[in-house]
Amino acid sequence: MRTVAPSSPDVSARMSRQSSKDTGAERAVRRLLHASGYRYRVHYPVPGMNRRKIDIAFTRARLAVLIDGCFWHGCPEHATSPKANAEWWQRKLDRNMERDRETNAHLRSQGWTVLRFWEHESPTTVVRQVATAVEREQAGRVQQPRQGRRR
Ligand SMILES: [Zn+2]
Repeated sequence: MRTVAPSSPDVSARMSRQSSKDTGAERAVRRLLHASGYRYRVHYPVPGMNRRKIDIAFTRARLAVLIDGCFWHGCPEHATSPKANAEWWQRKLDRNMERDRETNAHLRSQGWTVLRFWEHESPTTVVRQVATAVEREQAGRVQQPRQGRRR
């Protein structure tokens, strides 16, 4: 196995910009959700998986919301392929996407609903979909309580 460092200032700048866990898109979605009265956990550990986090987790509803960065997660509209070390980058991004699929499958096997969005999506649209899913999950839990007690 060979590890090649990013080769140009441009790529380094992009890496440091993109590697921020707390993206502007995610913060905007969180702000809107909070303003609408929703309460959630931030960067909640994926149960049973080391070092993986759910960006916005509704633990009682078991709803995981992930806001994926266009570059790191291979958005079909905005993914760019750095020219330098192209092979290394392709492998790295492929691994990221593979990890995303693993995380989805794992969460679903634990009874979670997984909603993934791209960082380029409008926060208002994202929040609308999240709100609908939260309401639906909560309604579902009332009909089929997981544990024999409320709240
Ligand atoms: Zn995108």
